[in-house]
Amino acid sequence: MYRDFDILKLGHPHLRLTAEAVNDVASDDNQVLFKRLLAFVIAQQGMGIAAPQVDISQRFFMMSSHPNSRYPHAPLMQPTVVINPEILWMSDHQQKEWEGCLSVPGVRALVPRHTEIDVRYTLATNDIVQIRYSGFLARVFQHEYDHLNGLVFLDRIETSHDIMVEDEWQKRIANHDQHASNIAF
Ligand code: ZN
Repeated sequence: MYRDFDILKLGHPHLRLTAEAVNDVASDDNQVLFKRLLAFVIAQQGMGIAAPQVDISQRFFMMSSHPNSRYPHAPLMQPTVVINPEILWMSDHQQKEWEGCLSVPGVRALVPRHTEIDVRYTLATNDIVQIRYSGFLARVFQHEYDHLNGLVFLDRIETSHDIMVEDEWQKRIANHDQHASNIAF
């Protein structure tokens, strides 16, 4: 029967584990798991979620994208299962933008991310994708990829002054900067 997942929150030691590679993408068990997590992320209307966030210590995550106020040119990307991802290259250039995380509720922070990355990963169909992501998709990919290595966005900030509590962020940023994106992954 379909069962919702519980999202691990910061402080749970399993969020800090290095996840294991997915060995058999085509196995029935894994195919069911991918479908369940896709359904979950769609129901949550999230932009992404990594397996370790639902206490599955394996190297896969979901990512999706649609245009938003901060990234009006973000491509439309249906929720996709990204399995055994590798980052092949990262631009020197980094940019700071606001991020939130389902595992760190009530907190926002400015996080520097590489603006362009070349990546390779396996799809649920067992096809291999090699692609360059920039801007918003590069940011989501780096955020989710970090979860596979036991990292959260707060590990990437430059200064604790770049952290805000959700209420204050809503008052001071979201209401004053029409470009601030209201997304958590
Ligand atoms: Zn996250």
